[in-house]
Amino acid sequence: MTERPQKFLVIFDRDGTLITEKDYLSDPTEVELLPEVVPALQRLAQQGGVFAVASNQSGIGRGYFSTDDARAVNVRMQRLLGEQGIEIMHSYFCPHAPEDDCRCRKPKPFMLEKAMKDTGVEPLFSFMVGDKISDIEAGKNAGMRSILVQTGYGKKVDPGSAKADFIAVSMAAAAEWILDMIKKPG
Ligand SMILES: [Mg+2]
Repeated sequence: MTERPQKFLVIFDRDGTLITEKDYLSDPTEVELLPEVVPALQRLAQQGGVFAVASNQSGIGRGYFSTDDARAVNVRMQRLLGEQGIEIMHSYFCPHAPEDDCRCRKPKPFMLEKAMKDTGVEPLFSFMVGDKISDIEAGKNAGMRSILVQTGYGKKVDPGSAKADFIAVSMAAAAEWILDMIKKPG
């Protein structure tokens, strides 16, 4: 009998983490997966990883683009990943501007908690990966471990100020760290 791998949840930020950061991206034809994302996510999925995306899209609240535009970008990204056999089970975004003081905008844990609920995965087996301090704080606020990836805005974040559980130079490094954590007994 082969042992089934432990199911775990990885919640990714979108811009600067899975796809190239282009301020207020609203055109699906401009979606570009970041290097290393495909092999890293394939590896995580093989080991039992399930995926969600949680993205702040304040461009909607600021009136720069519509909810449909944001959805079209997500659909395009999911199609590019899907062509590589990678499934994003849930994709959430917060449409509000910071001054709206909503309940969903990261660093609030709302979208991350929803991802855990929708996939049935506990915080102990959940990870947040993002390129901004607000991603790291959202992970902390949801009780899960957080990884700062040094792509997108992550290149500019002072690693010492991030309070991340791990600083990853790349998505490949983030995936390896997550797999180490999952394999550790207890
Ligand atoms: Mg980002």
